Amino acid sequence: MNTTATLSACQTHGSDQNTDPRPDELVLCPHCDVLQYLPALIPGEQAHCLRCQHQLDARQPNPIMRPALYATSALLMLLLANLFPFVSMALAGTRSEIHFFDTSAVLFTEYQQILSILVWLFIQAVPAFCMLAIIYLKLGMRYQLPARIWVARVLFMLKPWSMVDIFLMGLLISFVKLVATAEISLGMSFWAFCLFCLLHLRTFQVLDRHALWASIAPSPQPDVAVKAGRTGLDQQLKLCHCCTAVVPLAQRHCSRCHTKVTVRMPASLQKTLALLITACVLYVPANMLPIMRTVSFGDVTDSTIISGFILMWQDGEYPVAIIIFLASVVIPIIKIVLMFWLCYLAAKSKQTAAKYSGNVYRLVDWVGRWSMVDVLVVAFMAALVRFGLLASVYPGVGALVFAAVVITTMLAAVSFDPRLLWDNQQIAADKPMQYRQAEGKV
Ligand SMILES: [Zn+2]
Ligand SMILES: [Zn+2]
Repeated sequence: MNTTATLSACQTHGSDQNTDPRPDELVLCPHCDVLQYLPALIPGEQAHCLRCQHQLDARQPNPIMRPALYATSALLMLLLANLFPFVSMALAGTRSEIHFFDTSAVLFTEYQQILSILVWLFIQAVPAFCMLAIIYLKLGMRYQLPARIWVARVLFMLKPWSMVDIFLMGLLISFVKLVATAEISLGMSFWAFCLFCLLHLRTFQVLDRHALWASIAPSPQPDVAVKAGRTGLDQQLKLCHCCTAVVPLAQRHCSRCHTKVTVRMPASLQKTLALLITACVLYVPANMLPIMRTVSFGDVTDSTIISGFILMWQDGEYPVAIIIFLASVVIPIIKIVLMFWLCYLAAKSKQTAAKYSGNVYRLVDWVGRWSMVDVLVVAFMAALVRFGLLASVYPGVGALVFAAVVITTMLAAVSFDPRLLWDNQQIAADKPMQYRQAEGKV
């Protein structure tokens, strides 16, 4: 096979290591299904698919040790965030002080058990599990611990459901809302939580998925002749979405992670459409039902998402009002509309602008979870603002319904198989060489 053209292209991007394609660097792009050889990356470089620009790999220095150290520090900060006072609020001579755990615990006592468990999962349990999993996998390399494959599978499955960054945004929004009427003091745990957030984000930034799976078991190689630059489907190959191994079509389970591997996600469009329709149906009561009940000097006000936005706008809190409006109204609607459009593009038979729609899918997938910010604002304010008839905030049933809308749209994005957008796109007979090797970028 002639590799000269693609190798020289890679070297111009700064790689000074041997870039000879090796069998263990064969990858199938999860977004467009083209088989490519991963160039030998140096730490700091990323490899992108030449057909759809999806990031295939990002090489990190010390790819297992660094995430493990960051994860250990993050866990320590999470522990500190739970030990000391989190935030306190003073109003008319009385003071309300909460711990971090109260954000979910108070909802439980307010007959919002499901919402309470969801908030606890999103801001405590899932982030803690992810950090523990990374440490376990590092220790597992050294001591050959059991169940490493299961831990790694669950780690990557749960990653999008860790919402500490969104909760931090929710805290800042809550402070802007409250600071005009009350005195807010930040406890030691608040700063520990901020550090936890940063360390948690950094842990995932420096985590090298390829290296992690390679540390568990070497990537299995298809025992058939393969041709880079052609799709996996053309060559009786399929991708293991869990560990990124290339698996022959006839093989039911991945030999590395034992996950059941299918050519395309089964009934992807049907599942995505069903979830989108569910989200549409839930979106109506989510906007009609009160998301929050506010008591102020004996007056009780139920506010929906829209009325809360209007109130903030009238109070002159424009930046917060815009953030809430974008996160709670614009993003869910745009996400639902775009996902319907992607389903339509994937279902129709003629050629479409797959590269463009693939970028839209990546954006929609990334931005969707941020809609949860309003729910987390309600959870935090319900825990903190508890001054009886003077001033109190209670979660409304709309908060739970809106959380269900966000969760169903996130599941819809997960159920959608972006390769369906590319399946109708033919690679021209003279083009496959262009896709032979992924592009390395510093
Ligand atoms: Zn691709
Ligand atoms: Zn696998």
